[in-house]
Amino acid sequence: MSTKQVKQKAQAERPLQKGITDETFAELESIVGAENASRDDVICQAYTGRGYGREIYWYAGLSSRPAAIVLPKNTEEIQKIVQMCVRRRQPYCVGGAFWLIASSPRVMKNMVVVDTKRASKITIDEKNMYVVVEGAPIIAQLAAECYKRDLYYMVPGGGGQCAVIGNFHVQGQGIFCYRMNPWTERRCNGAEWVTPEGNLVTMGSLQNGEDSAYIGGDPGPELIGLIKGQIAWWGCMGITTKLSLKLYPFQPEGFVPEGIGTKTVVALPPRVRYQNYTLPTEEDLVESMSKISREQICGAMNRVPAFWRTIAKAKGRQAFWDLWDKMTYEEVENTHILRVLFIGYTSLKQLEYDVQVVDEIIVKEHGGTARRTRQTDEGTFLYANVTGMWSITGFYASAVVGSESARCTLANEFELADRIEEEPYKSIYLPEYHERPWYSPFDLGRALYTEFMQFPDSQKIDPQDRVNFDANLTASNIEWMEAVCVGTQMKHGFSGLFGNGILNSSQEIGPTKHNYHIWIERIHKEFDPMNLANPPSLRTIDALLNLAPWLLNEEYRQTQTRIANSGWKDE
Ligand SMILES: Cc1cc2nc3c(=O)[nH]c(=O)nc-3n(C[C@H](O)[C@H](O)[C@H](O)COP(=O)(O)OP(=O)(O)OC[C@H]3O[C@@H](n4cnc5c(N)ncnc54)[C@H](O)[C@@H]3O)c2cc1C
Repeated sequence: MSTKQVKQKAQAERPLQKGITDETFAELESIVGAENASRDDVICQAYTGRGYGREIYWYAGLSSRPAAIVLPKNTEEIQKIVQMCVRRRQPYCVGGAFWLIASSPRVMKNMVVVDTKRASKITIDEKNMYVVVEGAPIIAQLAAECYKRDLYYMVPGGGGQCAVIGNFHVQGQGIFCYRMNPWTERRCNGAEWVTPEGNLVTMGSLQNGEDSAYIGGDPGPELIGLIKGQIAWWGCMGITTKLSLKLYPFQPEGFVPEGIGTKTVVALPPRVRYQNYTLPTEEDLVESMSKISREQICGAMNRVPAFWRTIAKAKGRQAFWDLWDKMTYEEVENTHILRVLFIGYTSLKQLEYDVQVVDEIIVKEHGGTARRTRQTDEGTFLYANVTGMWSITGFYASAVVGSESARCTLANEFELADRIEEEPYKSIYLPEYHERPWYSPFDLGRALYTEFMQFPDSQKIDPQDRVNFDANLTASNIEWMEAVCVGTQMKHGFSGLFGNGILNSSQEIGPTKHNYHIWIERIHKEFDPMNLANPPSLRTIDALLNLAPWLLNEEYRQTQTRIANSGWKDE
């Protein structure tokens, strides 16, 4: 039986999904070919939006299955789909990799998902150090191609499995942003964009053709900011079909894989070296990090929290819990580890020089010690094995993500580390033993990036788990993420990345940040007047908060009003 026959048989056996007319679906099929369009319930279910891995929309009952999925093969087909959607008033949403489910249909029952995987293409210009990306190749693919050419690109903490273009739109940051510009639009030379109304626009130096796409920031108005702000539009601003992105000089040798399954690692080549250091206190760790950044040496560095070390030791789920249960407050309070990545960009001699300077700072000036460090990697260069470490309990738990000055970042994070020891939070989350979260310098120390994590038992917050579900725990979990974490960020002037409506409500954070959400809405309306590109997108958390207005308590409101009226400095 051909694929088409299998599909026809399956569709005949199952009732068709409501939400898209036969005429609209037939037109989609005529654009992409029948085998590249589906309105099968099972296939559509796989694309149902669940909420940035932390399943918040799903648990809150906000998610709906899309009405159809299409896989176009190039810009021409993408443009035709958008134009058809506009003509037929049909909502649509684009994505190309796993986290599409974070942003795809949540409330709308008649959404068409445009999956750009089939249009994937990577073209590297080695000499001029840039790549032109189309469709949805993933970052691990791009990274592997770069390493063959003595180049590298940013690999996000979330893993190499995300799409280059999707990640450009969502965040585009990882520890390599210590040296690379942390803001994706500034690593971008040009873009090709199908606007929400179906017009094709080229921006930056892609206007002069792909051969000239090595330079960013043309003279004259720069349009790229329209499609990308930090953690930008979540698919509600049309479809980016092509990007030219800068690549960066690396070192000559590749990475050799070793081991199998969960024990897969890569051996580090001679000009790439990891070294872990133990510092006497947290203050010594922060100061060492800042001194190293000031010397402008090394490839990256980050603080290593206790659960990462335990995961690395455990190599298995049960082994993790056995070890973690034995952890003590004393051990966590007294362990301060900085992991430094050395890269010999120009030579081995340069790497050795960097090591000497770091030893001088950490060992001689701050009384730290160099720990025994394996010269293998499973979580930095391709991030193949890394995703599990973000969801120890089956729940993606970063509630605070972003970068600010070291002062704002650390004040925010250390306060949250204290507050999570209070009830009811202490009993609903994995014990963290008063751990400080991980942080890492970006832009040679000008900004400090961080993520604050807390891990609830995912079974207890899933309403569909009839045995374990606990409504009180779910309420406290949402309160922690949407009220405590956001309120603390506002208080310390920490610009979290999540405040654009998809994970935290922009209406709540907006007043403390010059009401940026009003501008965003105005711009969006200008380009998408019929609101067809992934509605309601930036309003999803508002929908959640409307269900539970009590979450934003008096303390929260007072902080918001105080900062909106007098700013952070007058506290
Ligand atoms: C546990 C965890 C940790 C993470 N840590 C990091 C991190 O440290 N650094 C980091 O950078 N990211 C991080 N992320 C984000 C993640 O890794 C993805 O990069 C991100 O969510 C993008 O998802 P994706 O690549 O799967 O893209 P997709 O699923 O393709 O889409 C993501 C979003 O971009 C929009 N989009 C996709 N393609 C297009 C297009 N062609 N035109 C216009 N809009 C488009 C989609 O509508 C959607 O809103 C983390 C995520 C998780 C869950």
